[in-house]
Amino acid sequence: MPAKEKLNTIALPKQDHEILAASNITEEYLEMQYIFSSIHPNSNNELSVSRFWKALTRTGILHDDPRLNSLKSYLSNISSGDEDQTMITFEQFRELINQNAIVRNALKGTLSIPAFSDFCGDIEEIYLETKKNKDGEVATYIPQLARVNPDYYAISVCTIDGQRFSIGDSEERFCLQSTSKPITYCLAHEEFGEEYVHLHVGREPSGQKFNEITLNNKGLPHNPLINAGAIMSCALINNKKDTADVFEKVMDTWKRLSGGKKPGFNNSVYQSERGTADRNFALAYFMRENKGFPEHTNIVDTLEFYFQCCSIEVDADMLSIVAASLANMGICPLTGDRVFSPKTVQNCLSLMSSCGMYDYSGEFAFTIGLPAKSGVSGALMVVIPNVGGFAVWAPRLDKIGNSVKGVEFCKKLIGKYNFHKYDNVINDGIKKDPRLKKYESKTNNIMSLIWAATYGDIEEIHRLEANGIDLNAADYDGRTALHLAAAEGRVETVEYLLVKGVNINPMDRWSGTPLMDAQRGNHKQVVELLIANGGK
Ligand code: GLU
Repeated sequence: MPAKEKLNTIALPKQDHEILAASNITEEYLEMQYIFSSIHPNSNNELSVSRFWKALTRTGILHDDPRLNSLKSYLSNISSGDEDQTMITFEQFRELINQNAIVRNALKGTLSIPAFSDFCGDIEEIYLETKKNKDGEVATYIPQLARVNPDYYAISVCTIDGQRFSIGDSEERFCLQSTSKPITYCLAHEEFGEEYVHLHVGREPSGQKFNEITLNNKGLPHNPLINAGAIMSCALINNKKDTADVFEKVMDTWKRLSGGKKPGFNNSVYQSERGTADRNFALAYFMRENKGFPEHTNIVDTLEFYFQCCSIEVDADMLSIVAASLANMGICPLTGDRVFSPKTVQNCLSLMSSCGMYDYSGEFAFTIGLPAKSGVSGALMVVIPNVGGFAVWAPRLDKIGNSVKGVEFCKKLIGKYNFHKYDNVINDGIKKDPRLKKYESKTNNIMSLIWAATYGDIEEIHRLEANGIDLNAADYDGRTALHLAAAEGRVETVEYLLVKGVNINPMDRWSGTPLMDAQRGNHKQVVELLIANGGK
């Protein structure tokens, strides 16, 4: 029988497992009940729209996420205008969630970073610590960069499931400068393929300054992430085409990579770049002398196009979505749009790993172990393949040209989380792995439940429940969640488990009951609670 019909024909007592089971309710129904109750509906079993949004935001799925468009129109249809007063019934909730996989998975806690709000707490902590750092100077080679407020600081993160969090000046726009280079390379790679692109540009760190007039022993730029190599990518994609059309494609690509948000263009930066371009002209002529360019390359058009790419503006939130699209092998997490092929992204990430941080690239690969690209505007994007992407923007640069706060942020992040490419060879459990459910690393699901009960973590018990874990489950010693909660004196957890109808007198292999555990630990309140509910 379809779940919906059943709903109309059976009067369902709330949260009563046995009756639910006897009435042959589907697992889906139970799961929805668990998810619904984990958001704490009111005594009429209704949920306010504002509470619903709060719960969703905690998972990192934000209001402006394009995947929520139909959900938003559903809610606006039932809304009275006041989100605190507009109530969602269980049936409405169920309909809503069943139509939206991302919301369902978010509330079940099965997205890439399940305990997302804990993770954001750590990011915020690092933000506050690094915010104090006033070292470094803003870039001064053009007045537009010299005038930027040096204290701007933004951090944004986006996972491959589109969970997002931003802190600081994340809505201020900044120009991409060299953070445009990986995407320009991807565009060339996508159009011409690896072989052709690398007939024109190497893939080796140069070991010299980003704008050094130097080529490799084949007379080619060392890699696509320094000026000469990025000018070469521009020459490839701009060749024999109308620069205006090509630039439109570049802008559209940035828009697709950032989930449909439109990038801006800073015309004064562009004009200034053009006006102080001797070095880049010298590089281009040097490459032409060495016959590095494809036939029919127009140097002036190519350079203008290169300056335009450097002058594109985004905010940190957008740049983190772009980084997440790279982490997601070319598919934007917010739209599902495949922008680049996996091979293009793989090659781009390889280059970012070895050449993305100017003359600090080797050191960064050693200490941080993640593909990244920085720019002289103080922008930095960092990719954690298959997890997500970070954007940091803080204009003060070190002597090498990297954002001081950006690098410090990465060091602190890697100190806490096992994101370094080779952290998996150590696995000593010292660094956190946010990809795991909170207690999953300790052992399997039953153990997760028992750990959660031990620590009185009701939210995690909800989450496990929503994933179908039986709250009566016992470990090999016959110890249940109720035993552990009682033994640790977790009054609220014991209460919660009792409301959920767990067996009050389960026996462990030493014939011990939860009441005995509570008595042994001298937890008076728990003892009273258990006795009042039939504990023996
Ligand atoms: N527009 C700068 C240049 O070509 C890019 C500098 C950078 O971010 O590395 O010199």
